[in-house]
Amino acid sequence: MKSEFQQKNTAHHFQPFSDNKELAEKGIKLISKAEGVYIYEDNGKKYLDGMAGLWCVNIGYGRKELVEAASQQMTELPYYNLFFKTTTEPATELAAKIASIAPAHMNKVFFTGSGSDANDTNFRMVRRYWDLKGKPSKKTFISRQNAYHGSTVAAASLGGMGYMHEQGDLPIDGVVHVDQPYWFAEGGDLSKDEFGLKAAQSLEAKILEVGEENIAAFIAEPFQGAGGVITPPDTYWPEIKRILAKYDILFILDEVISGFGRTGEWFASEYFDLKPDMITIAKGMSSGYLPIGGVIISDKVADVVIGEGADFNHGYTYSGHPVAAAVALKNIELLESEGIVEQVKAEISPYLQQRWQELADHPIVGEARGLGMVASIELVKDKTTKERLAPNAAGGNVCRDYSMDNGLIMRSCGDIMVISPPLVISKTEIDELIEKAKKTLDDTARFYNLI
Ligand SMILES: *Cc1c(COP(=O)(O)O)cnc(C)c1O
Repeated sequence: MKSEFQQKNTAHHFQPFSDNKELAEKGIKLISKAEGVYIYEDNGKKYLDGMAGLWCVNIGYGRKELVEAASQQMTELPYYNLFFKTTTEPATELAAKIASIAPAHMNKVFFTGSGSDANDTNFRMVRRYWDLKGKPSKKTFISRQNAYHGSTVAAASLGGMGYMHEQGDLPIDGVVHVDQPYWFAEGGDLSKDEFGLKAAQSLEAKILEVGEENIAAFIAEPFQGAGGVITPPDTYWPEIKRILAKYDILFILDEVISGFGRTGEWFASEYFDLKPDMITIAKGMSSGYLPIGGVIISDKVADVVIGEGADFNHGYTYSGHPVAAAVALKNIELLESEGIVEQVKAEISPYLQQRWQELADHPIVGEARGLGMVASIELVKDKTTKERLAPNAAGGNVCRDYSMDNGLIMRSCGDIMVISPPLVISKTEIDELIEKAKKTLDDTARFYNLI
């Protein structure tokens, strides 16, 4: 007999990215509190949150300073908009703070409610840019297979997820996709470096095919997140940079996951030495305590879309929401004053990556990879042939369920298990994460009679 709460959830709650019929049959976990890097189910079961929620709780759970920032702002001014020749203190201060940590050539921020609508903003702003430049034919976006840029119509079109495109007749016109730098699955006989070059060169081939005069922008994540923490070969970004320098197209770097310290730099554009025209932000911006996103804009783009002196007819009721902005500002101030990003770079991420590599020796792991505070493993039945555990990525779900049983939140992206823990995780907690991941791999291997 399902509890009254479970029945209520089944009756009324349509949950995102879920088979809701299956949820109704199997029931659902109720998460009721959290502290540090741990979350708790209402029945008291404790989990180490290896995913920082959904890649977002960078500062960890339970920070009272963020609660106070929200409460103070809500008392003073819970809401006002930015449309009527008005601003609010948190919106302006947050924009200035983000500009201060962003790459030097980027000094303006447009606020949104999420990463998806930030990429919708990019979509319109980039097209507006080319209209104002007198090149209205430059309207096509180039993205990559297996990219994730959000779930709205434009953002899902920019993304390269087939299972999303097949629902809702996406992508919309004006978006084309090129190869991803996913060496493990697509590298064939090529070395990592050779494959990195080849994947990057698919961008140049596409530019030549569609015509430079028709291309608006290239959009990419520094490393693919939801695609399975796909970290590109060392040759990939330098070759992309060479191609971008050669053609007159804009470059949108989607840092919704990688921003705000996840690589050990404030932005992955520094980690990979990229020079984007716009950076998409959300998630770690507020450590997920309240929803907020935005686009950081280079001087080059701002000079045109602002410098021309006409209205940009775009914005959201909750653009720069003062309570969300106050929380994001406090979050960034804490990441700064506590030296959390430096700590990630100097100590925590090297330790996480070193221990994560131990998983590569496990019989069902085809590859262990990662950078900064993200990492993933490829689940296989056979290390040499790379044959998967089961058809239709069923092995990933089996492994995810064992992980939950073992008190560790890991996410499955198909046959890939991924982690993205809070940046404040300690070495002892990393040890616990690795021990639980090893047990989970053993349990999964045993389930498939492989050990
Ligand atoms: C999560 C994500 C988005 C979408 O952000 P939402 O806040 O869920 O709309 C966009 N891009 C990347 C890289 C993401 O990981």
